[in-house]
Amino acid sequence: MTHDPSDTFVHVRGASEHNLRDVDVDIPRDAMVAFTGVSGSGKSSLAFGTLYAEAQRRYFESVAPYARRLLQQVGAPHVQEITGLPPAVALQQRRGAPSSRSTVGTITTLSNLLRMLYSRAGTYPSGAAHLAAEAFSPNTAAGACLRCHGLGVVHDVAEDLLVPDPSLSIREGAIAAWPGAWQGANLRSIVSGLDIDIEKPWGRLRKKDRDWLLYTDEQPSVLIKPQRDRVDHGYYGKFWSARKHVMHVLADSTSERMRERALRFVRSVPCPECLGSGLRPEALAVTVAGWSIAEINAMSFAEVVAVLRPVAELPQETNEVAVRICADLVARIEVLLDLGLGYLSLGRSSTTLSPGEAQRLRIATQLRSGLFGVVYVLDEPSAGLHPADAEPLLDVLARLKASGNTLFVVEHDMDVVRRADWVIDIGPDAGEGGGRVLYSGPVAGLEAIEESATSRYLFGRAEPLDHTPRAPHGHLHLRGVSRHNLTDVSVDIPLCVLTAVTGVSGSGKSTLVTQVLAELVRCHLGLAPEDPDQADLEVDVEDASGLESFDRLVLVDQRPIGRTPRSNLATYTGMFDAVRKLYAATDEAKARGYGAGRFSFNVAEGRCETCQGEGFVAVELLFLPGTYAACPTCHGSRYNAETLEVTYEGKTVADVLSMTVDDAARFLADVPAASRSLETLREVGLGYLRLGQPATELSGGEAQRIKLATELQRARRGHALYLLDEPTAGLHPADIALLLRQLHLLVDAGNTVVLVEHDLDTIATADWVIDLGPGGGDAGGRVVAAGTPTDVASAAGSATAPYLARRLA
Ligand code: ADP
Ligand code: ADP
Ligand code: ZN
Ligand code: ZN
Repeated sequence: MTHDPSDTFVHVRGASEHNLRDVDVDIPRDAMVAFTGVSGSGKSSLAFGTLYAEAQRRYFESVAPYARRLLQQVGAPHVQEITGLPPAVALQQRRGAPSSRSTVGTITTLSNLLRMLYSRAGTYPSGAAHLAAEAFSPNTAAGACLRCHGLGVVHDVAEDLLVPDPSLSIREGAIAAWPGAWQGANLRSIVSGLDIDIEKPWGRLRKKDRDWLLYTDEQPSVLIKPQRDRVDHGYYGKFWSARKHVMHVLADSTSERMRERALRFVRSVPCPECLGSGLRPEALAVTVAGWSIAEINAMSFAEVVAVLRPVAELPQETNEVAVRICADLVARIEVLLDLGLGYLSLGRSSTTLSPGEAQRLRIATQLRSGLFGVVYVLDEPSAGLHPADAEPLLDVLARLKASGNTLFVVEHDMDVVRRADWVIDIGPDAGEGGGRVLYSGPVAGLEAIEESATSRYLFGRAEPLDHTPRAPHGHLHLRGVSRHNLTDVSVDIPLCVLTAVTGVSGSGKSTLVTQVLAELVRCHLGLAPEDPDQADLEVDVEDASGLESFDRLVLVDQRPIGRTPRSNLATYTGMFDAVRKLYAATDEAKARGYGAGRFSFNVAEGRCETCQGEGFVAVELLFLPGTYAACPTCHGSRYNAETLEVTYEGKTVADVLSMTVDDAARFLADVPAASRSLETLREVGLGYLRLGQPATELSGGEAQRIKLATELQRARRGHALYLLDEPTAGLHPADIALLLRQLHLLVDAGNTVVLVEHDLDTIATADWVIDLGPGGGDAGGRVVAAGTPTDVASAAGSATAPYLARRLA
């Protein structure tokens, strides 16, 4: 097939990546194309795994012909031919952990522009030399604060962490930060040699002594006298203050466990030198419109525009450079305001952004890149967005298209699908049961496709989820909650029902649910905080009652179930233990003396030596991101040949790992410890996943459902609080229906469920809705409405109400 320039289609022939079944499809360019289908049907395999991967491969070949051999090793997508494919840019939500040094300013590249503004057009103190743009970046040698190396924070110990219980004496272990065992006993002997009373409660020691013990840099050597019943002659021991010990461990210890322990005693505080900006004093002294670059970085975008717009509107002659750069900054930031991100600041660390926020920032950045003739491949751009935030996003996508680009959008939100020019529906089911193109054409034509789940939801043929709101059994009362943009908020959370917390992006939902509420209950249950950085944050609540109603807290978020390819579905759920025992119990294994450990790919004896049980090896491409290829020895099986000689019912342990949950449920039906897990995984719609699929390949939505299934499998009647952050993100409406059924079962069993949620079908079937807002950031943080879905649908001033009302009508 040669390419005819008047042909405006991308032609795909014989695509068979993952579960795709020899797909032939023609996709229009210069259009917005939605890829739809139930989760696991093959949408991403076509959009990302085939189209984007092929564009990427061609790009690599064109820029780096030498890479060809390596690329062959990595493997091209399984497709016979693609013609008419333009270069592609992927804007994916899932993969790639953001680095803690990247910020909103670096993702959007706005920081570069701002630095140029300060360097070229800032107001310098008289006599100061002009600084290069790098001097305004904490990430360069020229700019970084000398005290904190540009991090903006320094770690320091704090007395309340070093000595959690001041009623203990030193002998009783008051200084928790000191090492245990012999070293600790040694330090205590040294202290008593220094004439400090080690029997007195810590709190009754003199302040001078306490400070010295905790903070001094002195390290006197003290003769330790032999104990009465010992025959040695004593020795000299060196003193370490608690701070010196902790800092020494953090700086020098190679033991991850020791370092982790030491981190419990430090708190990160803003660097006193640069006040958290990471910059040197010379840079901080330069101003624009009276503000330093650090102050601009800390402002919300809405405030930045207010500060810079007057400069942009000055007559050109006054300061041409300042006017030009400010005008550019204002224009670019206005796009972010349009996208509902006006509450973010340039200095905000990218690790604290939600995936939806990060993706919108990248989309806005692309809009300004001036590229045309490009295919943008997007992963659920509407995920994590309130319907009110989704509309401006769609406008920006329309602008990207209008400037001559093509949009391939993997999407579950039917309101977004309706706005597409073309829809490619894949299915009918997930995994083996999917992988066919059910329909490719303008949206209206999908109505006639009987076997399409998407068609049922798009054209209103799906059974509506009927629900009569339950009555709560009491309430959890929170009074005076303050954190981020929540200020002195009071809210009642009903018990033993399903509550949806709603509101536009930045209104405070996650702050309330996954932070404040989770921390309060965790603290009440005496559990350690999940995130050690949050360990010392005060729980900013004046009064909380009703916490005693819970005996368990389950936080089901979208964080990956593991950060290495060594964790997978089977290991995470614990089901793999049962499988390994099963193999160890076979006659062959017994005859060879193989225990259960032999069947773990993490244990030396059973795993493939070449790849150390990873199943693949890293291929380094010069100048290009590294990538992976199947291990040449075990071909991805992860095990050595001897281990694979042991079979159960004709299958090796590697065969089991490559089974889908559905297949494994059949194969392991007689193994109760495994089949219970497998059944719950099927119930949340994950029957299509393979047991050995590495954790790193799973989407956030899949990870979340795996966690939920793992919970359900051990769920008993109880008084647990389940907190879920957007459980429906990444799910087709048909999968949402499955998930909701499970969540309601949890409530029927006596538990309380609280969801942060945007999906209107889900909100409509909640027992109670708490709507935060009305806007994001400072314009939000209040409870706008609370009540049954019907109550909230008619609430005045709620951004959710009009959408909910339409859904309930
Ligand atoms: P969707 O995007 O529709 O949710 P995917 O294209 O991600 O579906 O997945 C389609 C099928 O391919 C599923 O059965 C999934 O388990 C499988 N799959 C996805 N990624 C991989 C991979 N990296 N290796 C093997 N199989 C995969
Ligand atoms: P939602 O979940 O409704 O999108 P969030 O609770 O994430 O809203 O955010 C509420 C407000 O708190 C926003 O103004 C946001 O910028 C701010 N915020 C959230 N997380 C952080 C953080 N880690 N550091 C500083 N501000 C934050
Ligand atoms: Zn500093
Ligand atoms: Zn191997």
